[in-house]
Amino acid sequence: MNRVKYFIDNIASIIKGKWLVQHDNALIEQLLIDSRKLIFPQTSLFFALKGPRRDGHSFITQLYEKGVRNFVVSDTVDLSVLADANIIQVEDPLQALQNLVAWHRKQFNLPVIGITGSNGKTIVKEWLNQLLDDRFTIIRSPKSYNSQIGVPLSVWPLNEQHELAIFEAGISQPGEMEQLQKIIQPTIGIFTNVGEAHSEGFVNVRQKVNEKLQLFKHVQTLIYCQDDPEINSGVAALWQQLPNNKRFEIFSWSMVSEAVLHIRQVYKEENRTTITATYQQLEIGITIPFTDNASVENAIHCWCVLLHLQVPQEEITKQMQQLGPVAMRLELKKGLNNCSLINDSYSSDLSSFTIALDFLSQQQQHGKRTVILSDILQSGRSEKDLYAEVARLLQQRQVNRLIGIGERISHHQSIFQSAGIPDLAFYSSVDAFIKELHHIPFKDEVILLKGARIFELEQVDRLLQQKVHQTLLEIDLTAVAHNLKQFQQRLQPSTRIMAMVKAFSYGSGSYEIANALQFHRVDYLAVAYADEGVELRKAGINLPIMVMNPEESTFDVLVQYNLEPDLYAPGIFALFEDFVKKQGIQQFPVHIELETGMNRLGFSRAELPVVINSLRTPLFKVQSVFTHLASSEDRQQDAYTNQQGALYMQMVEQLQLVLSYPFIRHVVNTAGIIRHPQWHLDMVRLGIGLYGGDSFGEGGLDLREVSTLKSTIAQIKELKEGETVSYGRRGLVTRDTRIATVRIGYADGYPRRLGNGAGKMLVNGHLAPVIGTVCMDMTMIDITDISHVQEGDEVIIFGTDLPVKQVAHWAQTIPYELLATVSQRVKRVYFEE
Ligand SMILES: *Cc1c(COP(=O)(O)O)cnc(C)c1O
Repeated sequence: MNRVKYFIDNIASIIKGKWLVQHDNALIEQLLIDSRKLIFPQTSLFFALKGPRRDGHSFITQLYEKGVRNFVVSDTVDLSVLADANIIQVEDPLQALQNLVAWHRKQFNLPVIGITGSNGKTIVKEWLNQLLDDRFTIIRSPKSYNSQIGVPLSVWPLNEQHELAIFEAGISQPGEMEQLQKIIQPTIGIFTNVGEAHSEGFVNVRQKVNEKLQLFKHVQTLIYCQDDPEINSGVAALWQQLPNNKRFEIFSWSMVSEAVLHIRQVYKEENRTTITATYQQLEIGITIPFTDNASVENAIHCWCVLLHLQVPQEEITKQMQQLGPVAMRLELKKGLNNCSLINDSYSSDLSSFTIALDFLSQQQQHGKRTVILSDILQSGRSEKDLYAEVARLLQQRQVNRLIGIGERISHHQSIFQSAGIPDLAFYSSVDAFIKELHHIPFKDEVILLKGARIFELEQVDRLLQQKVHQTLLEIDLTAVAHNLKQFQQRLQPSTRIMAMVKAFSYGSGSYEIANALQFHRVDYLAVAYADEGVELRKAGINLPIMVMNPEESTFDVLVQYNLEPDLYAPGIFALFEDFVKKQGIQQFPVHIELETGMNRLGFSRAELPVVINSLRTPLFKVQSVFTHLASSEDRQQDAYTNQQGALYMQMVEQLQLVLSYPFIRHVVNTAGIIRHPQWHLDMVRLGIGLYGGDSFGEGGLDLREVSTLKSTIAQIKELKEGETVSYGRRGLVTRDTRIATVRIGYADGYPRRLGNGAGKMLVNGHLAPVIGTVCMDMTMIDITDISHVQEGDEVIIFGTDLPVKQVAHWAQTIPYELLATVSQRVKRVYFEE
């Protein structure tokens, strides 16, 4: 079948650009906006977008060197170094990208479902895909790609073979939806709901509803729940505004009143929910394997779509029973034999495969990369093309080994052979693979597990994991990136960021976090001790790293691993000076810490002349000069903080007089970034803000919790009034009580202080108080008032729904201590959403 093809000539006219240079009429297949995601240089068109901190134009030369020849720019560029390129100039490259994809969308005539709303977009999209994928060849947004950039990238792969499209749209500001409407051009709309989340850009809920409704201006059918008065009146108003012949059909549902689908009963059992409704005067029903309210709402939205598409009710009933959970995350965890394991075994389309490969190639900690991949189902193109593309991707990402699972991928193994992937193995089924698993060597490598849900690769995931006990610290790398961005937006573009990754990144991990930070382009890392830096270097981190506490015994590794010491006092300064002199080293990068009032480390004003004299020699290259604030979070101490800043500036001036070159000046930590913009200077040192969800009350930063500490229930007991729980018999039972023993204790970092009712844990969404003293490996909680709790159930110690700040408050400490003391025996699992 003919695919719509684009040559750079057509594109220039579609986006109404001006040629700066035209070299040839290149075929364009990929749209590129992030230089790190380059895979196919020859056929990629790069759009130089401008963000608040980064300007795509600054990556043009680098991309050119990698073979990219097609660019859309807004600024003038130095053409002399871009000899044989095609360069189109437009006013706004983002708009050009959007216009191009809107044009592309117009070439196709198929049902397109557009989903917006505050919550549930991605689940509804993924469920619709599960429910409809044996009826249609579907294209859908990968993950939750729903932004001004994500939407065009989702729609671009649309082609003739697709029979149904499902795209989600999310907005954070007024005015954005109109653009997304043009790109998606939905024919069927779903408005999931509206919540208070992400309201920053909007005056009120009404405005947010109206803005979201812009997506549905030209739909033929709109599906929504009429029980929310804001949505209901918003929809009515939009419908009224439209001319008679352009009005959409309303497919509403309601729990309380007449609607197209009138829900009569929602009946929850242990692990399923039955929903009955009236539709076209008939009683119909579905049963889903979930019991939470959000799932019920999401399932009803899907039900409406299926009814609208006239899927027979028997078929709907059957499919709904089989709905599976949507894992929207890529998990990274420790595997057997020092492997790292990435689990993405819930979908197998090409775009999510590309995203998973990106994540794989961020992992620098092992030399070798293995991909375990199932058949890819329903791609909308011929299998030959499909697997040739997969082979190209694997080759491009330097994957060393492919293990293909399934009849289809095995059938096409010759494609992978001719692509030159070094190590290949194929199995007709997961069972066949599992039978052989213990003969297959896995050691010191990153393994990506990727497959369609029906292959149930979870079994493989379980077999390849390192076996550790069931207490887990989950770290959300997307939240780290999100938090980093919140801070970046607060800074001048020229202000650099040093990310503090001391003490295992405040307990959340070492190279896993550093890798993510390196990927998101922080400028510097800082660790407390040399060995922490060595570990990062061994894992392939090449950012500059400052070591805050260099010890004499570690000088040789500092030099060997190119770690930059903080010289904070005359003693350590002289020792290190001596060391580099003996080694015959010159210009070694160092940092100078100044004492201005924290009274911890740093040269005092009186000691400064000592350094100044020695810095005249060429032994050292001073990378930065810094000081640390004692009370940046405290309004009462602002005068003291400013006094520290002023003293720092005076001392810096003295250093500037002797050093003939510029150095980086930095003062503030997290709270300082938020509260003292006047002291941002050349760089900031960002710590807790990356990891915690503490917004420090002021400044309104929207930070996310990064870590979730969770465990499981080992046993449940029924106790009678008068009995006692745990050591010292401190937990006296004053009524008949149900007790759950949780697999976490003070050896895991759960403070003993939280015993006897001081602390609480979350079980099934409810708080359960700790009863009795906390033991070394176990803690008991009172679950009398919580229903449906079973042995083996999950217990949340802290996380999004129980912020670490709250738990720290109960333990009379601060989030820093709680995070940093989660013990190393607690397994860390990393994920990206
Ligand atoms: C730990 C540390 C920071 C980071 O502090 P946060 O409050 O976590 O942002 C900054 N500077 C120095 C010198 C530190 O030791």
